[in-house]
Amino acid sequence: MAFSILYWANYTAGTKKLSRKSEIAVHSDHVLRFIYDQEASYVRGVVQASMRDRSYNVTISLGTNYNVENSTCECVNGQDKCHHKASLLLYGYKNVSKTDVRQSWVKNPKSVPPRQTKTMEDLFPAADRFVNYRLASS
Ligand SMILES: [Zn+2]
Repeated sequence: MAFSILYWANYTAGTKKLSRKSEIAVHSDHVLRFIYDQEASYVRGVVQASMRDRSYNVTISLGTNYNVENSTCECVNGQDKCHHKASLLLYGYKNVSKTDVRQSWVKNPKSVPPRQTKTMEDLFPAADRFVNYRLASS
C-alpha cells in the first residue's frame, strides 16, 4: 500500500505556508532520513532546518482518516504544526513504494559501509593447500 497524499493534504489544509515550505524542503532534499513503519502507522525521520546548519528529529503517528494522531519535532514549533512534519508526510507520499514490507531510506550513502565483494579465493584461501596436504599424506 502506498503512502497516501491525504496525510500531507490534511495536515497542511488551510495553511498555504506549511504546504509551500514543505514542498520546498522535500524538493531541496531536506528530508535526510525517512522511516515508515506501516504496521505501527508510524513515521520517523530527520529533516534539515531551512536556515541553520542543523537538523531535527521528527516522529509522526498516523491516525484514522488520513489524519496525524501524534507528532513531535525538535524545532521551536515542535509541539504544534511545523513544516518539518509536513515535509516527512510529503516525502512519504513521493517515495513509499507499493509494498507491504517495512521500508526505510537512508539519504546519505556515505554513511553506509561499502559492500565488500569476495572472491572464492577470499572465502576459501586454504582450499588448494588443504587438498594437496591430503593427497600427500595418504
Ligand atoms: Zn519542526
